Amino acid sequence: MKKKLEMLEELQEIDQQIDILKAAQGGLQTELSGINQGVDAAREECAVLEASLAQGEIEKSALELTHAAELENITRSETNMKEIKTNKEFQAVGREITVAKKQITDIEEQLLQKISQIEDISGALAAKKNTCDELAENSAQRLSAKQSEIDKIQSEIDADVVRRESVTKGIPASLVKKFTILREQRRGQALAIAKDGYCMGCNMHLPPQLYNNLYKYEELLACPHCQRILILKLQQ
Ligand SMILES: [Zn+2]
Repeated sequence: MKKKLEMLEELQEIDQQIDILKAAQGGLQTELSGINQGVDAAREECAVLEASLAQGEIEKSALELTHAAELENITRSETNMKEIKTNKEFQAVGREITVAKKQITDIEEQLLQKISQIEDISGALAAKKNTCDELAENSAQRLSAKQSEIDKIQSEIDADVVRRESVTKGIPASLVKKFTILREQRRGQALAIAKDGYCMGCNMHLPPQLYNNLYKYEELLACPHCQRILILKLQQ
């Protein structure tokens, strides 16, 4: 019985070790996602700037078209003027030309603004792309470092799993099952140390007869309060 208890204790140690390793691995996975999200966010900012640059170019082309059309209107009006007979008509076309010229001035102003806007966006985009590239390069290094840490932990977990298998071989299957269920129910702790008449798993006082029986190692004894399998430790 004492031997069985020692094996259960070893099993618990291995399982706790695996839990710790898995938690560390989970933490690293979270960091990994965080790094990836940072890169994605930077790329997203680049895409937004690219879209507004494309939009700016479209607006610029539209202004250029309007500008050309207005210039054409003026040319046409000026040609028409030569054929005008009355003073009244002459004045009307003259007014049209004045309006068209005013519009052209407005469009040219808008075009200048648009061009400077496009230059600003281009500059911002170039800078953002630089940052993005740097971040991606930097992240690639960090990602591969994190990944190798994760892989290293995985090989430790694999080794523990092998160790666990060899330990469970020496324990009756029913006991392993009981241990596993208890472990799930008791927050990863299927065993509890009994010391000075107390269960160290739940800190409750153990019935004296039960405590005395622990010294005999005749059967597996469980704490009546938390149901954990008790292991006697005289000094610790
Ligand atoms: Zn207990």
